[in-house]
Amino acid sequence: MVILSLLSRPVFSNEFQSIINDFLPKGDSNWRLDDVSTEAERVVEFAGRVCYMSFGSRQSPRSNSEYIANLIRKGHESVLEHAVWTFALSGVSRSFSHQLVRHRVGFSYSQLSQQYYDESGNSPVQPAGIADNVEAIEAWKRAHKVSHESYLAIMASVEPNNMVSNPENLRAVRSAARSVLTNSQRVAIVVTANARSIRHFLSLRGDIEGDLEMRIVSGLLLDVFKKEAPALFADFSLETSHDGYPRVRRSEI
Ligand SMILES: Cc1cc2nc3c(=O)[nH]c(=O)nc-3n(C[C@H](O)[C@H](O)[C@H](O)COP(=O)(O)OP(=O)(O)OC[C@H]3O[C@@H](n4cnc5c(N)ncnc54)[C@H](O)[C@@H]3O)c2cc1C
Repeated sequence: MVILSLLSRPVFSNEFQSIINDFLPKGDSNWRLDDVSTEAERVVEFAGRVCYMSFGSRQSPRSNSEYIANLIRKGHESVLEHAVWTFALSGVSRSFSHQLVRHRVGFSYSQLSQQYYDESGNSPVQPAGIADNVEAIEAWKRAHKVSHESYLAIMASVEPNNMVSNPENLRAVRSAARSVLTNSQRVAIVVTANARSIRHFLSLRGDIEGDLEMRIVSGLLLDVFKKEAPALFADFSLETSHDGYPRVRRSEI
């Protein structure tokens, strides 16, 4: 089962007033904040308003969500990069994480190392796509058994003292042993990403029919971020497809 844990979220501090006062006359430097926006949404709105110093009498009557929708419509999306979250994923396969880490811009990663972590007791992630295919599941299980036994055999082939006396020997053996593991190997990965990069990821990955693991993770992500910052993800919707798996779709805002 895929587990998504949110580890940190934007915190909006009230230390913004002196910045506005530095550019606008006192008495015309009030920022009318709505009381429904989340902290992440306020960070983004403030960053956008600083560009135009649209506070006081220069502030339009738009709500926070209307303000953010306008930023997205106009393509002024760099402002969305100020909202940053860190989350952890577990129970995903190495093939998924390899696709994930291809997303370079606005993402940071820390992934379980197969050189430092002993994979002997780790279990693989069974691909969702073969859930109803008994023959395929059997073949998949056979392949995993061979790979697992080979991993154990390679690890057991080296004298333990040899690995204790020199950690680089252990690294070398684990490197050899991991090479026989399959793409299904279960990983944990910590991800830091901003709202713009998450939006890009969901747009590209959330609705690829045959990529079930991507769709599962995309669905979990959208579920979290719809709560964290509904205005920043207002143009994304989460549906359940005919195959029972989530699909994340984007519409015009
Ligand atoms: C359906 C599908 C099939 C795929 N198939 C393959 C495949 O067969 N083989 C494969 O290797 N990959 C494949 N990929 C991965 C894909 O090519 C991207 O590497 C991945 O989706 C990350 O997307 P990105 O580069 O837009 O994201 P990011 O790396 O996060 O970049 C975000 C955006 O920044 C800009 N950008 C980033 N780097 C540059 C740059 N160097 N120059 C100019 N602009 C830049 C681009 O606008 C880019 O969209 C596939 C992806 C999908 C969705």
